[in-house]
Amino acid sequence: MSLRSLASLGDLAGRRVIVRCDLNVPLKDGAVTDDGRIRASLPTLRALTGAGARVVVISHLGRPEGAPDERYSLRAVAARLAELLGAPVAFATDTVGSAAADAVAGLADGQVAVLENLRFNPGETAKDAAERQAFADELARFGDALVSDGFGVVHRKQASVYELAQTLPSAAGLLIAAETDVLDRLTERPERPYTVVLGGSKVSDKLGVIEHLLPRVDRLLIGGGMLFTFLAAQGHKVGASLLEADQLDTVRGYLATAAERGVEIVLPTDVVVAERFAADAPHTVQSAGDIEGGPAGASGIGLDIGPETAARFAELVASSTTVFWNGPMGVFEFPAFAAGTRAVAEALTRVSGLGVVGGGDSAAAVRALGFSDDDFGHVSTGGGASLEFLEGKKLPGLEVLGWL
Ligand code: ADP
Ligand code: MG
Repeated sequence: MSLRSLASLGDLAGRRVIVRCDLNVPLKDGAVTDDGRIRASLPTLRALTGAGARVVVISHLGRPEGAPDERYSLRAVAARLAELLGAPVAFATDTVGSAAADAVAGLADGQVAVLENLRFNPGETAKDAAERQAFADELARFGDALVSDGFGVVHRKQASVYELAQTLPSAAGLLIAAETDVLDRLTERPERPYTVVLGGSKVSDKLGVIEHLLPRVDRLLIGGGMLFTFLAAQGHKVGASLLEADQLDTVRGYLATAAERGVEIVLPTDVVVAERFAADAPHTVQSAGDIEGGPAGASGIGLDIGPETAARFAELVASSTTVFWNGPMGVFEFPAFAAGTRAVAEALTRVSGLGVVGGGDSAAAVRALGFSDDDFGHVSTGGGASLEFLEGKKLPGLEVLGWL
């Protein structure tokens, strides 16, 4: 525990501070379509400009393959950042070349520059540590200190996340501090009753999280595509629903462990079964034990939890003090199968203690359904990073900042 804080860097007035943000936002036709991650980086940037630092922002965007690629330029992101900060933001058209050097040299105290996409440079994600270090050394020329605040990348051993934090005096930014505080409360010191709701597509993506959290929770609610592997493990037929047959034994193991430990695994009692995987597919509500009893028979596909289950899940969520939710309850991308996800999201807004949404698609789902991030205790900005944290894994980008 205990990340080095911004305060540990001392007086930053007049000093050049590199800030590693995660500004990896979705772009369409060159415009930012969801600025959530830019907004999440504002508290740290404001704290630093307010302290009179010369702020050099670095980030990746998308997956360019180690060379410049206009489709992944951070130019539009820098423009949006300027709007949100209400101050000019300089943009350098390279990351460690002469444009970057000029932009950094041109900064006055309290001003901000954004350098071009880190991943336009092969050193950022190189497998070879020496190559990463060489790129980190080039970046380090532009700063007297590093503030690491890209929570979405802390599970990656990449030059700007790991080597650069060892090369310069470094500390965690406010976003990383807030994210780790919430995730630590979920793993080490939850206020009870503590409920975890898991959904999404596959059990196999979430095995590590289930294993690490099962001994810590009071109840585990299962929805989404993974529910069918749980129902099948109990001997039910699931039609043509998503089923991971190779995980049946693992899931039976979870059910047994839960029973031994007094953890309640709550499975759906009804399911919305569609005739095919399509937005306009005819569908019926079937009891969990009779998924193949609808008009589609054995070719029916479960695409959402049913209304009885949604009401029960909502009640269990709203009456908990701590809730972590990862994974949509159904194929929310089709409005006809979004009701379960909406019910859980709505209940999460009523949690008295800490209600957390984690996971990339889950965060996108609540926004698509019209909820705002402020409706919840916390919406994690890091999909893979939050899941790895909750699996109990060591994250290199946090360890390098003093987290044990
Ligand atoms: P996250 O990114 O939040 O961790 P996942 O990637 O695990 O979430 O899962 C999200 C996907 O799960 C969504 O695209 C959703 O359509 C899908 N999903 C949910 N329920 C089902 C289902 N019953 N059958 C198939 N896919 C499902
Ligand atoms: Mg996902």
